[in-house]
Amino acid sequence: MDTDRIEELRAQGVRYVFAQFTDIHGAAKGKLVPLAHLGDVVSPGAGFSGASIWGTGLPRNGPRSEYYGRADLTTLQPMPWMPGYARVVLDGHVAGKPFDACPRQVLRHQVARLAARGWTLNAGLEPEFFLLQKGPNGYDAETSDALEKPSYDTKSLLRRRSFLDKLTTSLNECGLGVYQIDHEDATGQFEVNYHHADALRAADNFMLFKMAAHHIAEEEGMLFSMMPKPFADRPGSGLHFHLSLADSDGNALFAHGPADHAEPGGRALGLSPLAYHFLAGLLHHAPALTALCAPTVNSYKRLMCGQSQSGTSWAPAFIGYGDNNRTVVARTVHQRIEWRLPDSAANPYLALAGVIAAGLDGIERALDAGDPVNQDVYEMGDAERATLGLRMLPQNLGDAAAALKADTVLAEALGSTIVSEFCALKSAEWIEYSQHVSAWETARYLNRF
Ligand code: GLU
Ligand code: MG
Repeated sequence: MDTDRIEELRAQGVRYVFAQFTDIHGAAKGKLVPLAHLGDVVSPGAGFSGASIWGTGLPRNGPRSEYYGRADLTTLQPMPWMPGYARVVLDGHVAGKPFDACPRQVLRHQVARLAARGWTLNAGLEPEFFLLQKGPNGYDAETSDALEKPSYDTKSLLRRRSFLDKLTTSLNECGLGVYQIDHEDATGQFEVNYHHADALRAADNFMLFKMAAHHIAEEEGMLFSMMPKPFADRPGSGLHFHLSLADSDGNALFAHGPADHAEPGGRALGLSPLAYHFLAGLLHHAPALTALCAPTVNSYKRLMCGQSQSGTSWAPAFIGYGDNNRTVVARTVHQRIEWRLPDSAANPYLALAGVIAAGLDGIERALDAGDPVNQDVYEMGDAERATLGLRMLPQNLGDAAAALKADTVLAEALGSTIVSEFCALKSAEWIEYSQHVSAWETARYLNRF
């Protein structure tokens, strides 16, 4: 461990490093390490009991039970919202080797597959979230925020300026480059946009964003929530991925350039043939990717077709793509692919790893993306959707987990350990939910029969 780096951090007032990893559910976990002991986190790493972490599949005892998180020092930086504390991201190791059920290692492996071709996937993650306060009826936005069309509302946005300013200042000090903040389509819902980064850094940055937002909201007496669909009658929170591929000279490989002759099939969306193959891979593997991108039972209440009480929800329900079309799972925009499936509960490492594996399969097998869809698919009838070949996304977590389990290409690319752990956890979650008798059911049926 570089003692100069430790001295530099000490001079910045850092006393502790939060050594952080992300569990299979996408939650930030870790340990506080006094600065002087940072070297131990590089080697041998911070030790954790593997059986106490979701989704590792590690036994309670024995040599393979210990999970070591080794610091990736390129991620080390102070957390400006918490003076005196820095963060470093850990890579999971077991028995001295990179651990194949560590989500960050899974993404590293996919990033390496791209790097072997000289490519980098750049991803811009767009977090939508709710900012709520505890009231007599539980958590909700302020009553004064309730509007029929809340998108871009000024009053609701500016009422939250203290939280948003602290968050933006902190994220910018960490180099995230926030460039836009708005009030979204649901009362109490916001979106913060910051610069894209390579896939691994984008996932690290998203976890940093979540940690900062949780902490700052708590200090402000509010609840920051990335639950995908907290309110039945309002749109849910997406985490759209803006995707583009670059070569080692920084050339944009998804952009249709003079070297490409014509876009396949006479399409004219400004995309390269390579981009169409990547897109075709996403569409082909969409049912399996749904489990990774929409990983809770609640996620499927966001993905329902069409309208919420306060207007169109803009969440996808059908597998297709179109130019600036928000009603399908992939929107093409400015020579990028916007993958609209992920929600705010997704583990960013696993969702991005799945996206890369699917896109590479599309490229390797030269899959065809089919024709773009330019109509509003919410408004279409079933017959028209069938004519256009629009398949529906899985409609619940059980079906999505089954689709992932059945997708041998993704299982092979991501590794059978993580895929079987993930599918087992998610199938169990689905069964537990299915067995739950809700207040809606008793209200509807108890007296009826
Ligand atoms: N909230 C929508 C979703 O769940 C997206 C709205 C938008 O397009 O910004 O995906
Ligand atoms: Mg949005």
